[in-house]
Amino acid sequence: MRVKILAEDVANKIAAGEVVERPASVVKELLENSIDAESSEIVVEVKSGGKELIRVVDNGIGMERDEALLAVQRHATSKIESIEDLFQINTFGFRGEALPSIASVSHFELVTKSANCLEATKVEIDGGVLKNVQTTGSPVGTRASISDLFYNTPARLKFLKGETTELNHIIDRVTWSAMAHPHIRFKFSHNGKNLIDLPICQNIMERISLIYGQEFVQNLLKFSADFPVLKIDCFVGNPNLTKPNRSYQLFFLNRRPIRSRTLSAALNEAMSALIPKERQAVAFLFLNLDPSEVDVNVHPSKLEVRFKNERALYSQVVQTINSGLYRQKYIPQITGDRGQVIGNREQGTENRDEASQSSAFNININSGYFGFEVSNSGFDLSKAPELELLDFDHVILKTQLFDTYIVAEHKDDIIFIDQHVAHERVLYERFTEQFSQRRIPAQGLLMPITREMSAAQLAALKTNESLLRDIGFEVENFGGKSVIIRSIPAVFPQAKAINALIDILEQLNSEKVSLERFEPASIQQKVFIMMACRAAVKAGDKLSAEEVVNLIKDLSQTKLPFNCPHARPIMITMSKSELETRFKRR
Ligand code: ADP
Ligand code: MG
Repeated sequence: MRVKILAEDVANKIAAGEVVERPASVVKELLENSIDAESSEIVVEVKSGGKELIRVVDNGIGMERDEALLAVQRHATSKIESIEDLFQINTFGFRGEALPSIASVSHFELVTKSANCLEATKVEIDGGVLKNVQTTGSPVGTRASISDLFYNTPARLKFLKGETTELNHIIDRVTWSAMAHPHIRFKFSHNGKNLIDLPICQNIMERISLIYGQEFVQNLLKFSADFPVLKIDCFVGNPNLTKPNRSYQLFFLNRRPIRSRTLSAALNEAMSALIPKERQAVAFLFLNLDPSEVDVNVHPSKLEVRFKNERALYSQVVQTINSGLYRQKYIPQITGDRGQVIGNREQGTENRDEASQSSAFNININSGYFGFEVSNSGFDLSKAPELELLDFDHVILKTQLFDTYIVAEHKDDIIFIDQHVAHERVLYERFTEQFSQRRIPAQGLLMPITREMSAAQLAALKTNESLLRDIGFEVENFGGKSVIIRSIPAVFPQAKAINALIDILEQLNSEKVSLERFEPASIQQKVFIMMACRAAVKAGDKLSAEEVVNLIKDLSQTKLPFNCPHARPIMITMSKSELETRFKRR
């Protein structure tokens, strides 16, 4: 066989294989072109799941005759000129592939008119072959009609799914575009039936409420953050709004829907403390990133992108959601469904920011008549206004049950607090904070401890020497199996410290592979979780009144006082009225 240049229509069909996978990909490309053309209204009309007809009509800038003829040729684009432009992309398109690819596998008709032309141009192409060009009458804008997609590529046609499946993919595409572009009116019909009609909206939240309904939006929290090259807007479902799968997790980069393992992982990390096991968070993340920070040209349909600094992105997303959630207080409540514990949003959280700014952060932990003898003085934390405290006013500590649960009264609620998880949360946040300031306190051992370790433990020790030192473990190995432990983190009594060290080494070994992408941040976090778990008071430990008070006081200052780092609840409440109902007082 001799080397030959492929004929243009063959090259187009090959490109079509990448760009046009199914009717929804055609819809996506056409929508992007209409958005790039500054349209304020886009109408999508589809028949038979897009197999019979896809038509997209916009009121954008349109094209002149010679532009229209160029646009259907390969590598024709108005959006970039040089390779440098690739890294400053503000448009959705730039490859100049979509129209010729689509036209090579369908009956294609383009009618377009720009404002400075008297007449519109109509271009007809059949299976990549130009059939007709003529002037015609039409308003300013563009109408692209695709019929019989894949009629000339039976192999592709065979891969298409049923009408409903293809329709659902198209609906997704229209929905995603509509979410990211609230200022554009979108209409969508299938087989003549109107399915979507979204007027121009003021903002994304309003658009989401028109798409998913008012009730959905009531459970949606919005957090925003501005970093030097990144702006984030997150719409996150509260624990009352979760889904069995991840289909409600959408990521938009500069308004382009993308798939991203980094973002999924960040979302997981940030939400895991609030979302019950087996359920998935609802989250729409809109990232605005400087175009030079991302390469969008790594995937033909641009679904995947490459970020310059994945780790920064990861931690910024986690930080944005975490600090947003920080202000939301969720306590599971024992309700009338006997004994069932459900997630429940505490009343009045909306205005908590303002409320907490105006009131002093007084924590009145009153002594109860049961177990505790506590003075009330000494817990005024109003001198630390930078701390955003949980409203622990009127928390009256009552007793400790089974040496495990602390019982308190809070207005009309009974609160049960699990002492172990509460302490875990306190310690976990303390380690994280101390670590960020490079000062996790260590205690040198007067009598260093010698201990034998397995080869795997020694390997973990070697690779993580500096992390271990930063958290307070100074361990030396002079070859052989034995190590000498010279210092341990100050929170641990000696015996506990050695066990914690072994656990940490084993954890580091098992996490090595799965966390490689995001280390060291996530590895540290796992280590802190483990340290917190090992160092915290246990269920069954008898606490003095003073210890209980200090624990609750510390808890009140944590960022997420309602869930431990493993996502277990720290406290549950039962209302006085629930008690009254059960005792048949009402
Ligand atoms: P790309 O979008 O990558 O540039 P396309 O093949 O999708 O490539 O489109 C080629 C060119 O045709 C675009 O660069 C644009 O100039 C023009 N074009 C396509 N669709 C429209 C439209 N709806 N309105 C105005 N111009 C359009
Ligand atoms: Mg395009």
